[in-house]
Amino acid sequence: MRTCKLAALLLCLALLPSCQVHQPAGSSGADPAREQKAYSSGYETGYREGYAQGLDGRPDVGDTSQPGDVPPPSDSDGSRFVMISETVPDAILEIRYYSTYNFVGERIDGYQAPVALLTREAAEALKEVSDELAEQGYRLKIYDAYRPQSAVEHFKRWAADLEDVSMKEYFYPDLDKSVLFSQGYISSKSGHSRGSTVDVTLFDMNTGKELDMGGTFDWFGPRSHPNFTGLTEEQAANRKLLRDTMLAHGFKGINTEWWHFTLKNEPYPDTYFDFSVTLLP
Ligand SMILES: [Zn+2]
Repeated sequence: MRTCKLAALLLCLALLPSCQVHQPAGSSGADPAREQKAYSSGYETGYREGYAQGLDGRPDVGDTSQPGDVPPPSDSDGSRFVMISETVPDAILEIRYYSTYNFVGERIDGYQAPVALLTREAAEALKEVSDELAEQGYRLKIYDAYRPQSAVEHFKRWAADLEDVSMKEYFYPDLDKSVLFSQGYISSKSGHSRGSTVDVTLFDMNTGKELDMGGTFDWFGPRSHPNFTGLTEEQAANRKLLRDTMLAHGFKGINTEWWHFTLKNEPYPDTYFDFSVTLLP
């Protein structure tokens, strides 16, 4: 069985463009230089307003349960994890923590395949979002979904190594790495580990590009706040379209990251899973 899954994974990687990770023409892809250039014009104004507490799933805390090596729930639990690619086939996947284009600069622990997992409940709600947006010419683009605790531990090790600033220019050029913990950018637990949180943006099928959200995924700073005041009208409208549609189908956002949404009625509100992100049977 294990050999069979490994063979499937290797086949998937060999067929990457047509398998789990789609990189449509015009998308920002995983090229740091191109990514930076695409948004560089938006970073000059209003940025230095002070950093928010509690950015993203990284510091998304609030309960006191202990992380551990919790296996994925089985079907008999009445809930389980599914691959977004199966429940929401229109979704485009760009799994940053499987790639090296993320704030750490290397593949993150616990990401064994370029897939996105969610609880069945969250994935079905996301399907409703996708269907509504498809009527308007948009597709969802997924950066991350379920995130194992081992990945969060990797973030913590990276944050403690103040000399490793290899990706600073792309994700935190104006921030001293030493403040990542104190300012809430990195924390010991993530809501993503509960399995019903997704990091997502919108892809315009007419232009073949991501919508301009006025900021990039995992940017450490106020520009990532959904209501950041330095946006153009178009950028603000694009963020509003994503947020309004997600909220209309049962998700809630946070006030520090425009791309981060959690299913309000998440099935495992107190469980922080630690099984790896890999192909599901
Ligand atoms: Zn997130």
